[in-house]
Amino acid sequence: MNSHPQRLVGLCMLAGVAGLWGCAGPARQAAAPSEASIAAHVQAATQAAGTDLGEVLTLCKPAPATRAAQEDMDKGLRALINKPAPPPGRAFDHLYFVGGDWSSAWAIDTPEGIILIDALNTQMEAAALIEGGLRKQGLEPARIRYIIVSHGHGDHYGGAPYLAQKYGARVVMSDLDWTMMETRLEFATPIWGAPPKRDISVKDGDRVTLGGTTVTLYVIPGHTWGTLAPVFDVDWQGKKHRALLWGGTGFNFGKDIPRLEAYSASAQRMAGIARSQGVDVMLSNHSRMDGSQAKLAKLRKDAGAPANPFVIGQPTVERTLTVMNECALAQRDRFALMP
Ligand SMILES: [Zn+2]
Repeated sequence: MNSHPQRLVGLCMLAGVAGLWGCAGPARQAAAPSEASIAAHVQAATQAAGTDLGEVLTLCKPAPATRAAQEDMDKGLRALINKPAPPPGRAFDHLYFVGGDWSSAWAIDTPEGIILIDALNTQMEAAALIEGGLRKQGLEPARIRYIIVSHGHGDHYGGAPYLAQKYGARVVMSDLDWTMMETRLEFATPIWGAPPKRDISVKDGDRVTLGGTTVTLYVIPGHTWGTLAPVFDVDWQGKKHRALLWGGTGFNFGKDIPRLEAYSASAQRMAGIARSQGVDVMLSNHSRMDGSQAKLAKLRKDAGAPANPFVIGQPTVERTLTVMNECALAQRDRFALMP
């Protein structure tokens, strides 16, 4: 993965078209890793975060060079999964939140069935929160036709085998993450449901189409090598908006400099795509990152409000991606300075 920033800067200038390579912001020379370069990246992220993207900016906190021990990871996971779940809710005319407090699942309702994005940690969560959440909103879970799994970590695939088997839904993942799950699962714990068996395998730019809705799947290497970012249209009060769901956020893979460089390149590329496609909604599969619980609470209070809090506007989508890019570069430089 040759995605050194120096090379990206060169390509941006050669291309001459912002967006072709997703060259977010003014090109600047990549400095050699140093305490000053780390501070500069954190400063750029802080500036981009403004007063509204504080949660995204937490990505700039130093990430551990080694992964948590299994026992600590399991303890942390149990605590996160056991938090009381928020109520399900409607974010747009045909987009529903059916997640837990920690991990989110999203359902796109179409006349020909439901496209589910992510399947939470366990079969129990899939039953209570996805099946239960859909029913509470008048949707029949038997209509789930596709389950797009953003990446090969169990907090997103754990409930997928149960739903796929029960309803004959097809499971969609990137080829890279299917292979990762089949060969060496990055994180394994008996708390999660078992990984699904390889089904539909997608490459960058592939689409899932159902009932007039098209979801374009971009591969955004970083959080895992095959993380997916689904991009699709949503409607609100007769107006179309375009949503980008960032499928994997944290730097939880330890000291892996190529992965952070790939993350940065993915964030820059998606900023270009967001600009060229007018993406004005940015979603996550962890509600802490996109503030979806607070936004849903707002919508519950006033369902007729003309301003949907999920519509943050294209410049804010781009700022979000800038924060992610700069935090990835800060972390890359931190690791580069380590012996
Ligand atoms: Zn993950």
